[in-house]
Amino acid sequence: MIADFINEFTFSFEVFPPKKDDEFEDAFRIMKELADLKPDFISVTYGAGGSRTRNTIEIASYIQNELKLPALAHLTCVGSKKQDILDNVQKMKDAGIVDIMALRGDRPAWMDDQQFNDRDFIYAQDLVRFLKKETPDLQLCGGCYPEKHFEAPNMEEDIAHLLEKQEAGCDYFISQLFFDNDLFYRFEDAAKMAGIHKPLIAGIMPITSAKQLGTTVSLSGSSVPKSLADLIATYGDTPEDMRKAGIEYAADQIRKLKEHGVDGIHIYSMNKPKVTREICEALK
Ligand code: FAD
Repeated sequence: MIADFINEFTFSFEVFPPKKDDEFEDAFRIMKELADLKPDFISVTYGAGGSRTRNTIEIASYIQNELKLPALAHLTCVGSKKQDILDNVQKMKDAGIVDIMALRGDRPAWMDDQQFNDRDFIYAQDLVRFLKKETPDLQLCGGCYPEKHFEAPNMEEDIAHLLEKQEAGCDYFISQLFFDNDLFYRFEDAAKMAGIHKPLIAGIMPITSAKQLGTTVSLSGSSVPKSLADLIATYGDTPEDMRKAGIEYAADQIRKLKEHGVDGIHIYSMNKPKVTREICEALK
């Protein structure tokens, strides 16, 4: 159970499940390579609006039962009724998974206005409260946003809702990716001042190409500091140099975060074991 060791520094990875059935063999190989790097746990994302739940459970189960590493299964609630959540959580428990990342998710394209208005869960804290009541044996993680969530009017309100999520029963939080450590330190200070006492794990995404940075920023809304923009300007047109510089940028971010004393590091591995291994080697 991740919560048993969450108060010590943790080093973890995030992966996504395969989209198609014939991609599982390759996914299992990737999980094995990542597990060889000895993270404390691996988290497995959940398809938007609850699509491909089975794949999340199958990969999390492989990590937990075959690779013998704690698996954190993500679960979103925006597109699910209470009974769907109970059914999916039971399947996770049947597969030996007890660590869940309880998320709201974003409105999926298939959800019409009627379905959206009738949804059972409005915010992630509603899911956390529901799971704590219905299945108190689960350990729950939540998401947090060093640059605030895009819907929140300001950081203060976002942190006030994070506090509600902690009070609802989250045992720890993993952050949205960020490229500027100072923003994380500022968020951490503000969250602690507001009463957050559960671990805040820093999410780091290695950037290995200019194109990847563009996609990542448009999805996450994370800001790009001058040092990273300069790196893209210098190496963006030479893929191998860009790759090395991006790995060193992520390793440097991690080194400094550890020195600062953060609660943990979560690498958004994007199912790339080679890049993740090179970061681990750079950290030695
Ligand atoms: P919430 O905690 O509900 O917050 C959403 C917004 O609502 C925030 O602006 C918050 O301030 C506000 N809010 C909360 N409570 C209240 C209230 N009572 N009144 C008013 N406003 C309120 N998405 C996926 O689909 N699959 C994944 O696997 C996945 N993994 C993720 C992993 C991490 C580490 C993170 C940080 C995000 C992940 N996401 C994933 C994305 C996430 O689903 C979206 O960011 C989504 O928009 C918000 O989810 P949440 O759980 O943070 O929502």
